[in-house]
Amino acid sequence: MEQEFCKCMRTSSIYDEIDDWGHWDMCVDCNKPIEGTYEFFNHYDGEDHCNDY
Ligand SMILES: [Zn+2]
Repeated sequence: MEQEFCKCMRTSSIYDEIDDWGHWDMCVDCNKPIEGTYEFFNHYDGEDHCNDY
């Protein structure tokens, strides 16, 4: 399977897309993900547990 990424030279705007594992930037112009913007969430569920190793 091949994943298509945004190839716009200048993206007018981006928005955040989220799945179970992380989030990434999407281009509003072509509605494709922007390569290299995927960031995995840390290993907790949105809660800030400090010393929870
Ligand atoms: Zn684009």
